[in-house]
Amino acid sequence: MNKTPDFTKSFRDSHLVQGVVEEIKRITTQNWILMEICGGQTHAIMQYGLDQLLPAQIELVHGPGCPVCVTPLDQIDRAHAIASRPEVIFCSFGDMLRVPGSEVDLFTLKARGAQIRVVYSPLDAVKIAQENPDKQVVFFAIGFETTVPANASCVLQAKAMGVKNFSILVSQVTVPPAMHAILSSPKNRVQAFLAAGHVCAVMGYWEYHPIANQYEIPIVVTGFEPLDLLQGILLSIRQLENNQHFVENAYTRAVTETGNQVAQKIIRQVFEPCDRNWRGIGRIPNSGLCLREEYAFFDAEKRFQVEHIQTREHEVCIAGEILQGLKKPFDCPAFGTQCSPTNPLGAPMVSSEGACNAYFRFSKSSIS
Ligand code: SF4
Repeated sequence: MNKTPDFTKSFRDSHLVQGVVEEIKRITTQNWILMEICGGQTHAIMQYGLDQLLPAQIELVHGPGCPVCVTPLDQIDRAHAIASRPEVIFCSFGDMLRVPGSEVDLFTLKARGAQIRVVYSPLDAVKIAQENPDKQVVFFAIGFETTVPANASCVLQAKAMGVKNFSILVSQVTVPPAMHAILSSPKNRVQAFLAAGHVCAVMGYWEYHPIANQYEIPIVVTGFEPLDLLQGILLSIRQLENNQHFVENAYTRAVTETGNQVAQKIIRQVFEPCDRNWRGIGRIPNSGLCLREEYAFFDAEKRFQVEHIQTREHEVCIAGEILQGLKKPFDCPAFGTQCSPTNPLGAPMVSSEGACNAYFRFSKSSIS
């Protein structure tokens, strides 16, 4: 039987990794702060100990690109209010189940009898709605540009098939407005971005040129394997050391300038930009994607009238500062004591893309 070759191995080759690290060391002459935007990149950096291989002058800070972490508390509390209703089957990705709201999490509600199901695709939720015509089925549509096309597809499919007992609770966000928010903050420390390769695979990177020009900052589209990340770091440092600032693509095997046009079209068909709260960060103008008026029928917020929610964030959690690159998980007094993956006080500790979770799991790792 033919075995499928594991192409990822070549992107984890320790000799190649060492060669790129040596080149980064050779060209680095001063202190630089880089932010990887995506939580998946944060986990890879911690898992392979890449931060420990870099020269001491380079500091990596962790960005807001963890969809679970930035889903605002008011929207999580709305999810809990909807999921608690007896006529509702509430569908969510598994990552959201342990995320603490003001009072409980979805997992606790499920234990108390709420009908909460883990799905792997929003289309699964449409199927559940078809199979349960006497129930209201709600999908928790969180995430960045990577998940939005599938969310748009499920709305289009439900509409085309006349599935009237289906709706989505929308909490979708986009990356460029968050980059603007970080860079325009008076507290900003970030001097270069490693842009998230999978987001750019969908959206392209044409939106990043004005950001690189306006803030005079290098932006390097970067993948997720050790060599991808080190290549992104190398190109960023090279620009910084040469006083350059432009958008560079270090993930050419997956990303083009214009991205996936079909996916972008379907996003525009169903959703439109809107202001959105980010958990721990606050409101960022035009950073959300909300349902267009012609698809408002599928808006769970309107269907269940849960617009007005009083929230209560845990007072010790510094997730907002971590997501903006101002602090690290080790700076949190609750890290590893009051807060752990089995007893999370904030979303970054429980999400598989959360920075606190990455530090908890991998803080002693290193590639060999
Ligand atoms: S360790 Fe826990 S409490 Fe501290 S910032 Fe992370 S999620 Fe919040």
